[in-house]
Amino acid sequence: METILLLAHTETDGSLAKSAREALHAAATLHKSLAGSKLVVGMVGESVQAAANSIASCPATKYFGIAGKDFSQSRYATDAAAAEAIYKAAQATLVVAPATSRWNRVLPGVAQRLGGRADTHVTGVSVSGDKVTVNRWYYRQRMEATLQRAQRPWFILIDPGSQSPCQCEGGTATVEKVAVALPDSAKRTTVTGFHALAADEQTIRPDAQLLFVTGAGWTKKQADGQTHVSAAEKLIRDFLQFSRASLGSSKSLVDQSGEGQAVLSFLSHLNQIGQTGATPRHPKGLSTCCHGEEPHTVGWRFIAERRAINLDPNCGWAHGKADVLYVADAFAVMGKVNELLAAKKS
Ligand SMILES: Cc1cc2nc3c(=O)[nH]c(=O)nc-3n(C[C@H](O)[C@H](O)[C@H](O)COP(=O)(O)OP(=O)(O)OC[C@H]3O[C@@H](n4cnc5c(N)ncnc54)[C@H](O)[C@@H]3O)c2cc1C
Repeated sequence: METILLLAHTETDGSLAKSAREALHAAATLHKSLAGSKLVVGMVGESVQAAANSIASCPATKYFGIAGKDFSQSRYATDAAAAEAIYKAAQATLVVAPATSRWNRVLPGVAQRLGGRADTHVTGVSVSGDKVTVNRWYYRQRMEATLQRAQRPWFILIDPGSQSPCQCEGGTATVEKVAVALPDSAKRTTVTGFHALAADEQTIRPDAQLLFVTGAGWTKKQADGQTHVSAAEKLIRDFLQFSRASLGSSKSLVDQSGEGQAVLSFLSHLNQIGQTGATPRHPKGLSTCCHGEEPHTVGWRFIAERRAINLDPNCGWAHGKADVLYVADAFAVMGKVNELLAAKKS
């Protein structure tokens, strides 16, 4: 009989992130399909009561919590000790957790300590008979594998964006406090703060409704024989500010900086989409000034609705890669789109 532990960490404001609700949805799916299984919840953070209350109507029979200043921030030693203590209190066999950067770097180590196994970047869970199956992608999202494991405990880290979040209502949850003995080494690392881009400079937004992709065409000579890089920068920046879209790019464009050419100042290799880049998940995607070659479009695997703007009616997007191709000048189209968005805002 499996005991399924949903293991979540709370956010700095004490709330539960969408990724944790997605992992809860996966854990509840397993619980529903595994006859005789138990579902319990474990939470770690500066405070956990509000987060537990927010999902009080979920089918979990017990809530375990470790709260306090020591657990407010991501730190390997304290997070690993907390995860281990909750696992032991819950006597879990399956541990389902969101694949956040915080848990991704800690839980595989905890699984190792406990003689278990861990799978990160899991995108699906199911049950056939009494066997749990998980799905994950390999080789840059080109091959999907389904895995089963006999080893317990099995830590299953669910990729954010791959599940629908659980819709369980709030209420009052009784949280059982779990004692954790922190090793001396736990206090060796002090988190003094984060160095991160200001929210407006952060162009990669995994939760955005739209992926906006820029290609090398933005920096190429246009009909007047000139390049218009600064105009391109302004159009793209304005659009990102209006739409809050996530910014992706072709490899050609991000590589240009290495060659000393004029490029869009806010792009880095982290924005690259494709075979040697990222494969993000967004409901919609709009490609601009990008040819749509296979090594790029393979990164669009999880973009549900795809549109592209290109001057070339025979570009790669026209060959079954996009749902809609606008054969048009992206400078003109995005100028008009920004004008409409600005009018809507004012
Ligand atoms: C092993 C390998 C791995 C690779 N991995 C990746 C990867 O991960 N990601 C990736 O992106 N690429 C990758 N590539 C490169 C990929 O094959 C392409 O070379 C690259 O995607 C092309 O970038 P682009 O479409 O922006 O540029 P270009 O091919 O130069 O296309 C520019 C486009 O802009 C259009 N254009 C110009 N001006 C305008 C305008 N005013 N309005 C509208 N359209 C306009 C042009 O018609 C043209 O189609 C890889 C290649 C290899 C060999």
